[in-house]
Amino acid sequence: MQQGVWQQKWVIGNWKMNGSSAQNTRLLEEICALPQADKVCVGVAPPALYLAPAAAQLAVADSANPICLSAQMASRFNGSGAYTGEISAPMLADVGVKLVLTGHSERSLYFAETAEQRRSQLEHILAADLQPLLCVGESLAQREAEQHFDTVAAQLAVLKDLSFVNGVAVAYEPVWAIGTGKTATPEQIGEMHQFIYDTLLSLLGGGVNIRILYGGSVNDQNAAAIFRVAHVDGALVGGASLKSEAFAAIIRAAQETD
Ligand code: PEP
Repeated sequence: MQQGVWQQKWVIGNWKMNGSSAQNTRLLEEICALPQADKVCVGVAPPALYLAPAAAQLAVADSANPICLSAQMASRFNGSGAYTGEISAPMLADVGVKLVLTGHSERSLYFAETAEQRRSQLEHILAADLQPLLCVGESLAQREAEQHFDTVAAQLAVLKDLSFVNGVAVAYEPVWAIGTGKTATPEQIGEMHQFIYDTLLSLLGGGVNIRILYGGSVNDQNAAAIFRVAHVDGALVGGASLKSEAFAAIIRAAQETD
Protein backbone atom coordinates (compact mmCIF):
# COMPACT_ATOMS: atom_id res chain seq x y z
CA MET A 1 0.00 0.00 0.00
CA GLN A 2 1.22 3.49 -0.73
CA GLN A 3 2.70 5.63 2.05
CA GLY A 4 0.00 8.33 1.65
CA VAL A 5 -2.79 6.02 2.82
CA TRP A 6 -1.59 6.29 6.42
CA GLN A 7 -2.84 9.88 6.45
CA GLN A 8 -6.19 8.98 4.89
CA LYS A 9 -9.41 7.54 6.28
CA TRP A 10 -9.99 3.95 5.13
CA VAL A 11 -13.38 2.70 4.00
CA ILE A 12 -13.19 -1.01 3.29
CA GLY A 13 -16.20 -2.99 2.06
CA ASN A 14 -16.38 -6.62 3.21
CA TRP A 15 -18.70 -8.30 0.71
CA LYS A 16 -18.60 -11.59 2.65
CA MET A 17 -20.21 -14.53 0.77
CA ASN A 18 -22.41 -12.40 -1.46
CA GLY A 19 -23.02 -11.70 -5.13
CA SER A 20 -22.42 -13.45 -8.41
CA SER A 21 -20.08 -12.79 -11.29
CA ALA A 22 -22.52 -10.36 -12.88
CA GLN A 23 -23.55 -8.67 -9.62
CA ASN A 24 -20.00 -8.23 -8.33
CA THR A 25 -18.77 -6.87 -11.67
CA ARG A 26 -21.61 -4.34 -11.64
CA LEU A 27 -21.02 -3.35 -8.01
CA LEU A 28 -17.32 -2.80 -8.65
CA GLU A 29 -18.13 -0.79 -11.80
CA GLU A 30 -20.41 1.44 -9.73
CA ILE A 31 -17.74 1.87 -7.03
CA CYS A 32 -15.07 2.71 -9.64
CA ALA A 33 -17.41 5.34 -11.09
CA LEU A 34 -17.84 7.17 -7.77
CA PRO A 35 -16.34 10.65 -7.52
CA GLN A 36 -12.71 10.49 -6.41
CA ALA A 37 -12.25 11.00 -2.69
CA ASP A 38 -8.67 12.13 -2.29
CA LYS A 39 -8.67 11.90 1.51
CA VAL A 40 -10.05 8.34 1.58
CA CYS A 41 -8.50 4.96 0.85
CA VAL A 42 -11.37 2.87 -0.54
CA GLY A 43 -11.14 -0.92 -0.56
CA VAL A 44 -13.35 -3.85 -1.44
CA ALA A 45 -13.06 -7.46 -0.30
CA PRO A 46 -15.05 -9.70 -2.65
CA PRO A 47 -15.33 -13.47 -2.13
CA ALA A 48 -11.99 -15.10 -3.06
CA LEU A 49 -13.35 -16.55 -6.28
CA TYR A 50 -13.97 -13.04 -7.62
CA LEU A 51 -10.61 -11.52 -6.67
CA ALA A 52 -8.82 -12.23 -9.96
CA PRO A 53 -11.67 -10.87 -12.13
CA ALA A 54 -11.90 -7.85 -9.83
CA ALA A 55 -8.14 -7.26 -10.23
CA ALA A 56 -8.53 -7.39 -14.01
CA GLN A 57 -11.45 -4.97 -13.83
CA LEU A 58 -9.50 -2.56 -11.61
CA ALA A 59 -6.46 -2.71 -13.90
CA VAL A 60 -8.42 -1.08 -16.71
CA ALA A 61 -10.50 1.25 -14.51
CA ASP A 62 -9.54 4.87 -15.03
CA SER A 63 -8.87 5.96 -11.48
CA ALA A 64 -6.36 8.41 -10.04
CA ASN A 65 -7.03 7.05 -6.56
CA PRO A 66 -6.98 3.27 -7.03
CA ILE A 67 -9.30 0.97 -5.12
CA CYS A 68 -7.48 -1.28 -2.68
CA LEU A 69 -8.27 -4.86 -3.62
CA SER A 70 -8.70 -6.75 -0.37
CA ALA A 71 -9.20 -10.37 0.64
CA GLN A 72 -11.46 -11.61 3.41
CA MET A 73 -8.81 -14.01 4.74
CA ALA A 74 -5.58 -15.83 3.96
CA SER A 75 -4.71 -19.39 4.82
CA ARG A 76 -2.75 -20.15 7.96
CA PHE A 77 -0.62 -22.36 5.70
CA ASN A 78 1.91 -20.66 3.52
CA GLY A 79 3.07 -20.99 -0.07
CA SER A 80 1.59 -24.06 -1.68
CA GLY A 81 0.87 -27.64 -0.67
CA ALA A 82 -1.76 -30.25 0.10
CA TYR A 83 -4.30 -27.99 1.84
CA THR A 84 -7.52 -28.59 -0.05
CA GLY A 85 -9.65 -25.48 -0.38
CA GLU A 86 -7.06 -23.06 1.02
CA ILE A 87 -5.67 -19.89 -0.58
CA SER A 88 -2.27 -18.70 0.64
CA ALA A 89 -1.10 -15.13 1.16
CA PRO A 90 1.42 -15.31 -1.75
CA MET A 91 -1.43 -16.44 -4.03
CA LEU A 92 -3.48 -13.42 -2.98
CA ALA A 93 -0.51 -11.14 -3.69
CA ASP A 94 -0.06 -12.86 -7.04
CA VAL A 95 -3.53 -11.81 -8.24
CA GLY A 96 -3.15 -8.20 -7.07
CA VAL A 97 -4.54 -8.18 -3.53
CA LYS A 98 -3.08 -5.46 -1.28
CA LEU A 99 -4.89 -5.86 2.04
CA VAL A 100 -6.13 -8.95 3.90
CA LEU A 101 -8.63 -9.16 6.76
CA THR A 102 -7.69 -11.44 9.59
CA GLY A 103 -9.44 -12.39 12.81
CA HIS A 104 -12.97 -11.55 11.65
CA SER A 105 -15.38 -12.77 14.33
CA GLU A 106 -17.32 -14.82 11.75
CA ARG A 107 -14.13 -16.85 11.17
CA SER A 108 -13.95 -17.75 14.87
CA LEU A 109 -17.70 -18.28 15.15
CA TYR A 110 -18.24 -20.56 12.14
CA PHE A 111 -14.74 -21.95 11.47
CA ALA A 112 -13.31 -22.11 15.00
CA GLU A 113 -10.28 -20.06 14.04
CA THR A 114 -7.91 -19.65 16.98
CA ALA A 115 -5.46 -16.94 18.03
CA GLU A 116 -2.58 -19.25 17.10
CA GLN A 117 -3.95 -19.67 13.57
CA ARG A 118 -4.46 -15.92 13.34
CA ARG A 119 -0.82 -15.40 14.27
CA SER A 120 0.28 -17.73 11.44
CA GLN A 121 -2.00 -15.90 9.00
CA LEU A 122 -0.52 -12.55 10.07
CA GLU A 123 3.05 -13.81 9.62
CA HIS A 124 2.27 -15.07 6.11
CA ILE A 125 0.36 -11.93 5.12
CA LEU A 126 3.28 -9.74 6.18
CA ALA A 127 5.84 -12.03 4.52
CA ALA A 128 3.88 -11.70 1.26
CA ASP A 129 4.16 -7.89 1.54
CA LEU A 130 0.45 -7.51 2.08
CA GLN A 131 -1.23 -5.24 4.61
CA PRO A 132 -3.16 -7.12 7.30
CA LEU A 133 -6.28 -5.61 8.84
CA LEU A 134 -6.74 -7.33 12.19
CA CYS A 135 -10.34 -7.44 13.45
CA VAL A 136 -10.92 -7.39 17.19
CA GLY A 137 -14.03 -6.97 19.33
CA GLU A 138 -15.95 -8.32 22.26
CA SER A 139 -19.17 -10.36 22.40
CA LEU A 140 -22.28 -9.01 24.10
CA ALA A 141 -21.67 -11.30 27.09
CA GLN A 142 -18.11 -9.97 27.43
CA ARG A 143 -19.32 -6.36 27.31
CA GLU A 144 -22.06 -7.02 29.84
CA ALA A 145 -19.48 -8.62 32.12
CA GLU A 146 -17.29 -5.51 31.60
CA GLN A 147 -14.56 -7.64 30.02
CA HIS A 148 -14.45 -5.72 26.75
CA PHE A 149 -11.08 -4.06 27.32
CA ASP A 150 -9.43 -7.28 28.54
CA THR A 151 -10.89 -9.19 25.57
CA VAL A 152 -9.59 -6.69 23.05
CA ALA A 153 -6.18 -6.46 24.76
CA ALA A 154 -5.86 -10.26 24.54
CA GLN A 155 -6.81 -10.18 20.84
CA LEU A 156 -4.26 -7.43 20.13
CA ALA A 157 -1.49 -9.45 21.79
CA VAL A 158 -1.27 -11.52 18.59
CA LEU A 159 0.62 -8.54 17.08
CA LYS A 160 3.47 -8.73 19.59
CA ASP A 161 6.94 -8.98 18.04
CA LEU A 162 5.68 -8.78 14.46
CA SER A 163 7.49 -6.24 12.35
CA PHE A 164 5.30 -3.82 10.48
CA VAL A 165 7.20 -2.17 7.67
CA ASN A 166 4.41 0.20 6.68
CA GLY A 167 2.04 0.35 9.61
CA VAL A 168 -0.51 -1.49 11.65
CA ALA A 169 -4.24 -1.55 10.91
CA VAL A 170 -6.92 -2.78 13.29
CA ALA A 171 -10.70 -2.84 12.97
CA TYR A 172 -12.68 -2.62 16.20
CA GLU A 173 -15.82 -4.64 15.54
CA PRO A 174 -17.97 -5.34 18.59
CA VAL A 175 -19.49 -8.72 17.73
CA TRP A 176 -22.92 -7.58 18.96
CA ALA A 177 -22.91 -4.76 16.39
CA ILE A 178 -22.04 -6.84 13.30
CA GLY A 179 -24.99 -7.25 10.97
CA THR A 180 -27.43 -6.51 13.79
CA GLY A 181 -28.29 -2.89 13.05
CA LYS A 182 -26.98 -2.04 16.57
CA THR A 183 -24.09 0.39 16.44
CA ALA A 184 -21.83 1.12 19.39
CA THR A 185 -22.36 4.63 20.73
CA PRO A 186 -19.77 7.32 19.95
CA GLU A 187 -18.71 7.13 23.63
CA GLN A 188 -18.19 3.35 23.47
CA ILE A 189 -16.31 3.68 20.18
CA GLY A 190 -14.20 6.58 21.46
CA GLU A 191 -13.05 4.87 24.65
CA MET A 192 -12.25 1.60 22.85
CA HIS A 193 -10.36 3.29 20.00
CA GLN A 194 -8.30 5.27 22.52
CA PHE A 195 -7.60 2.00 24.37
CA ILE A 196 -6.55 0.25 21.14
CA TYR A 197 -4.32 3.17 20.18
CA ASP A 198 -2.58 3.15 23.58
CA THR A 199 -2.23 -0.64 23.52
CA LEU A 200 -0.70 -0.59 20.03
CA LEU A 201 1.80 2.05 21.11
CA SER A 202 2.90 -0.01 24.07
CA LEU A 203 3.03 -3.24 22.02
CA LEU A 204 4.84 -1.86 19.00
CA GLY A 205 6.54 1.29 20.25
CA GLY A 206 6.26 4.75 18.70
CA GLY A 207 7.04 5.72 15.12
CA VAL A 208 4.65 3.20 13.58
CA ASN A 209 1.74 4.24 11.36
CA ILE A 210 -1.58 3.28 12.91
CA ARG A 211 -5.09 3.08 11.42
CA ILE A 212 -8.00 2.01 13.64
CA LEU A 213 -11.26 1.38 11.79
CA TYR A 214 -14.68 0.90 13.33
CA GLY A 215 -16.97 -1.85 12.04
CA GLY A 216 -20.45 -2.92 13.05
CA SER A 217 -23.61 -1.80 11.23
CA VAL A 218 -21.97 1.31 9.74
CA ASN A 219 -24.35 2.86 7.22
CA ASP A 220 -25.03 6.06 5.33
CA GLN A 221 -26.97 7.49 8.30
CA ASN A 222 -24.48 6.93 11.12
CA ALA A 223 -21.09 7.12 9.33
CA ALA A 224 -20.52 10.87 9.77
CA ALA A 225 -21.03 10.74 13.55
CA ILE A 226 -18.71 7.72 13.83
CA PHE A 227 -15.97 9.37 11.74
CA ARG A 228 -16.01 12.39 14.05
CA VAL A 229 -14.92 10.26 17.03
CA ALA A 230 -11.23 10.61 17.97
CA HIS A 231 -8.98 7.79 16.71
CA VAL A 232 -11.59 6.56 14.23
CA ASP A 233 -9.54 6.34 11.06
CA GLY A 234 -12.19 4.76 8.89
CA ALA A 235 -14.73 1.96 8.70
CA LEU A 236 -14.96 -1.70 7.83
CA VAL A 237 -18.40 -1.98 6.25
CA GLY A 238 -20.36 -5.19 5.69
CA GLY A 239 -24.00 -4.97 4.61
CA ALA A 240 -23.92 -1.34 3.49
CA SER A 241 -20.96 -2.00 1.17
CA LEU A 242 -23.21 -4.12 -1.06
CA LYS A 243 -25.23 -1.08 -2.13
CA SER A 244 -23.14 1.41 -4.05
CA GLU A 245 -25.26 4.44 -3.02
CA ALA A 246 -24.90 3.62 0.69
CA PHE A 247 -21.17 2.86 0.26
CA ALA A 248 -20.75 6.15 -1.65
CA ALA A 249 -22.41 8.07 1.18
CA ILE A 250 -20.05 6.47 3.71
CA ILE A 251 -17.03 7.41 1.55
CA ARG A 252 -18.40 10.98 1.31
CA ALA A 253 -18.80 11.14 5.08
CA ALA A 254 -15.16 10.03 5.47
CA GLN A 255 -14.03 12.61 2.92
CA GLU A 256 -15.84 15.39 4.76
CA THR A 257 -14.46 14.55 8.22
CA ASP A 258 -11.00 15.69 9.26
C1 PEP B 1 -18.34 -6.85 9.18
O1 PEP B 1 -18.77 -8.00 9.17
O2 PEP B 1 -17.13 -6.63 9.09
C2 PEP B 1 -19.32 -5.78 9.33
C3 PEP B 1 -18.90 -4.66 9.82
O3 PEP B 1 -20.62 -6.05 8.97
P1 PEP B 1 -21.87 -5.05 9.03
O4 PEP B 1 -21.42 -3.70 8.54
O5 PEP B 1 -22.90 -5.66 8.17
O6 PEP B 1 -22.28 -4.98 10.47
